[in-house]
Amino acid sequence: MRVGWRVKPWRRWAIASILLLFLGSVLAIATPALPPPQAHPLPPTLAQWRDRSGDYFEEIESTPLGYLVWSTLPITVYIEVPKDPSDRAQTWQKAVERAVMDWNPYLPLNPVDSPENADIRIWSRRPPLRLSSTGEILRARTAETRYEFYTRSPATPMHRCDIYLSPHQSAIYTLATARHELGHALGIWGHSPSPEDVMYFSQVQDPVEISPRDINTLKRIYEQPTRLGWEQR
Ligand SMILES: [Zn+2]
Repeated sequence: MRVGWRVKPWRRWAIASILLLFLGSVLAIATPALPPPQAHPLPPTLAQWRDRSGDYFEEIESTPLGYLVWSTLPITVYIEVPKDPSDRAQTWQKAVERAVMDWNPYLPLNPVDSPENADIRIWSRRPPLRLSSTGEILRARTAETRYEFYTRSPATPMHRCDIYLSPHQSAIYTLATARHELGHALGIWGHSPSPEDVMYFSQVQDPVEISPRDINTLKRIYEQPTRLGWEQR
C-alpha cells in the first residue's frame, strides 16, 4: 500500500508557509530584535581631523554587530601592572603607556585601575594558545587583540577588547606592537598594505609613528553604521 500525502501540492505549500510564519513569530518573540545599524556622532577629535593622503578602509572588516566603534567617550583602558619588578617589566609598562598616549589625540583614552569595567584591557602576557581544527597547537604569537560582545543593561549591545602583549620583548618592539594592537582595539579591524602605517600587516625594522592614513581610516570607520552602543527598542 502506498502511503502518500493526500494534500494537493499548492495546499502543502500553504501549510508549510503558515508553519514557517508561525515559527518565525515565535522566534521573534524569543529573541528581541537588535537595534538597527546607525552611525554615532563623530568624536570631536576625529570630526576636526582633515587630511587628503588617502586611507585603507577597504581592508577593514566589519563584525556581526557592525564596525567596532566606541560610542561612549573617553574609552577606558586598563594596563596590567607587571608583578615582576624587573627592568624588563618596567620597560614593558612604559612602552605600553606611551602607545596609549600616542593614540590619545585622536580618540580620548582614560586609564583606569581595575580591569572589571575597562573597555580595553592590556595584559602583560603571551596570547592564549589556539588549537587548529585538527587539534594541533598553532604557532604562539607575541601579541594579539580579541574582542567580545556583551549587553549593557537594559539592552544595549556593547564590546570590549583584550590585548595580550608578551613582556619578553625589547622596548622598541613593545612600543610598536602596543601601538598596532591598540589600533585594532580602537576599531581598525584590518591591516594596511603600506609599511608606512602603524597598521601594516607585518613587523617592520624601524617602527613608524601613527600615520595620517591610519587616522583617515579610523575616521571612516567611525562614520560607519553599527549596532554597537545603540539601545534595543
Ligand atoms: Zn594586526
